[in-house]
Amino acid sequence: MGFTPLRSIRVTNSLTGKKEPLETLEEGKLTLYSCGPTVYNFIHIGNLRAAMVADLFYRFFKKVGYQVTYVRNYTDVDDKIINRGRQEGVASEDIARKYIQEVEKDYALAGCLEPNHKTLVTTHMPEIVEMIQRIISTGHGYVVDGEVFFSVSSFPDYGKLSRKNIEELEVGARVEINERKKNGLDFSLWKPAKPGEPSWDSPWGKGRPGWHIECSAMASKWLGDKIDVHHGGEDLIFPHHENEIAQSECASGAKPFVKYWLHSAFLTLSKEKMSKSVGNVFLARDFLSQYSGEVARALLLSAHYRSILDFGEDSIDQALTALSRIYEAKARAVELARTRRAVPDMRAESLWGEFVQDCEKARGAMLDAMANDFNTPEVFAAVFGLVREFNRVAAEPLAAATPTATLGAEALIRVLEQDLGDLLGIGRQEPSKVLLEISKIRAARSGSQITPEQIEGLIAERLQARKDKNFARADEIRKELDSKGVVIKDGPQGTTWEYR
Ligand SMILES: [Zn+2]
Repeated sequence: MGFTPLRSIRVTNSLTGKKEPLETLEEGKLTLYSCGPTVYNFIHIGNLRAAMVADLFYRFFKKVGYQVTYVRNYTDVDDKIINRGRQEGVASEDIARKYIQEVEKDYALAGCLEPNHKTLVTTHMPEIVEMIQRIISTGHGYVVDGEVFFSVSSFPDYGKLSRKNIEELEVGARVEINERKKNGLDFSLWKPAKPGEPSWDSPWGKGRPGWHIECSAMASKWLGDKIDVHHGGEDLIFPHHENEIAQSECASGAKPFVKYWLHSAFLTLSKEKMSKSVGNVFLARDFLSQYSGEVARALLLSAHYRSILDFGEDSIDQALTALSRIYEAKARAVELARTRRAVPDMRAESLWGEFVQDCEKARGAMLDAMANDFNTPEVFAAVFGLVREFNRVAAEPLAAATPTATLGAEALIRVLEQDLGDLLGIGRQEPSKVLLEISKIRAARSGSQITPEQIEGLIAERLQARKDKNFARADEIRKELDSKGVVIKDGPQGTTWEYR
């Protein structure tokens, strides 16, 4: 039986620079590798975006029916980890172990799904050594005093991903003098041990692997010599991914190592590129504790993964607005779905009937948007269009009282929980919980001194005052709330409020 995915997918392949139809190596199956962080510190919000993009791919490939194998690595041996250990006076293994746990907490808080395999360099030494041996034996690597280099000139395809001019790069590389290398662009596959550093036995003496070889070795072990989709931040295209291609294709002889290279763009903060080395940092942990996983998702997925996303007050406000629109509609739908009704109103019945069809169209539009190179802004647009339509129908006279309102409300809840929930990891939560969280966040942002609980208390008191015909007290409460930046609105559903 042939496999037909729910949608045919097109992705922008960095290898060709074109948007191409996705055809996997094996029917119905898809292999996905994503380069994970070097664990020497907490991750910043830019790292979280990259992880969330890989998660976005994984969610969608599964949603359309592929049997996906998803691997993400942790670089747990590296100069940065060793240096950090020295600074703190602890073993580098302890630094790596600690930050793997912290990064895992961030990923979980951000709602990223667990990959099938989370791999470590330190548990793949036999595979790494074996791959380096194959690279040497096929004439693509050489050993100088216990250090193994990859010979770039032995691989004519070098530069095919980054489209770099190799001759120009070679001229630049000559400036950096390393007499051990045959060519300035050659890179380390294995580095000899320095005193006090973690090391492993190898045919070339004690040492540790270079950075690039780990991903080639792990991808090959868990996914095979050829894989479907490889993801990473665009800063990894050169040299990391270029080197991965060189190593893998030379070690296995199989080409291409990766069918589709997908790269996610940077995050900017006040228009500055964010990266740990620049020192322009906003930790994912700080954001997730001040906001929430869904706010992070609404923000980081609001832009297309290949577009630079500016992280700042405006994008945070937009994410909060987006989430509250979604959950306010969900709250209303939950309320509508709960009530049973007996007397149909013809006009309202037909409006809800159309709305149920709109829900089906929106589900299709969301899948189409994702199939078109993971166009998340269009997914949000489809959801907001549907929410607008729901609010319009629900506001119609008699709409809430007609029996089909239940079906309309349930249809909206299904789209939010199953479609938006599966695709973007947003919409599954209890609306009252999320709306209260958002209110608290907004209160903290506006510096308001009054909590949502106190506001609710005052609103209840005002309602009682009005029932008691104590209009002076009711008016006093309204003014008090107003002076604290809280606007209240009386409507058919009761009194609602928001921070000004
Ligand atoms: Zn990698």
